Amino acid sequence: MAINLEAYKKILEELEPFHAKLVAVSKTKPAEDISALYEAGQRIFGENYVQEMTEKQAQLPADIEWHFIGHLQSNKVKYIAPFVHTIHAVDSLKLLQEINKQAAKHQRVINCLLQVHIADEETKFGMDEKEIEELLRTVTTNANAYSNTKIVGLMGMATNTDDNAQVQSEFHQLHDIFTRLANTYLQGNTDFKELSIGMSADYPLALKEGSTMVRIGSLLFGKRNYSQN
Ligand SMILES: *Cc1c(COP(=O)(O)O)cnc(C)c1O
Repeated sequence: MAINLEAYKKILEELEPFHAKLVAVSKTKPAEDISALYEAGQRIFGENYVQEMTEKQAQLPADIEWHFIGHLQSNKVKYIAPFVHTIHAVDSLKLLQEINKQAAKHQRVINCLLQVHIADEETKFGMDEKEIEELLRTVTTNANAYSNTKIVGLMGMATNTDDNAQVQSEFHQLHDIFTRLANTYLQGNTDFKELSIGMSADYPLALKEGSTMVRIGSLLFGKRNYSQN
């Protein structure tokens, strides 16, 4: 249980020229590790599990910006709606509607990123471009019904492979989708500006392809041991 402050500083320096934000992914790691990185100046933390995130949020400083980055079930939105800042992996209209409903109960606006399926693997969640277009058409034509959510961009995960060319091409594809959507359904919408791509293994490629938010865990907090969780 030790955070890597050298890696933290190095990553911040690498992000600087791209004006990209760091989401420190603290899933499975204890609150003390988050506190230690908080002391070093980090404010944005990402979690994948609802219960773990609510438990940590309750014991950590109130000015932490919590990002939910994992697959979110509609019936669990209510637990994080009081405090979550951004939800990265919105993959259906139904989920967006539930987020809006729960955010409204707390008179909040929750930032949402739409998850795009770019990887080869069957297991990764997300929508294809057509599904995203449909969702955006619905939302933009009923804007009043979605006033407690703000669609701020897209999120994706590349295939878990050593083939850099493949990873880069998947990120590139995502950036193209982002640009097309921004120019069609979201014309003039300045909220739609984030591209959440890049993890410990591939964030340098993601930055080259226009990432504005990298989600980094193991480089900062060390390898995760799921058997203890
Ligand atoms: C765990 C996780 C990350 C961070 O992964 P690392 O390889 O540890 O940097 C990023 N994004 C998502 C969606 C994750 O689940």
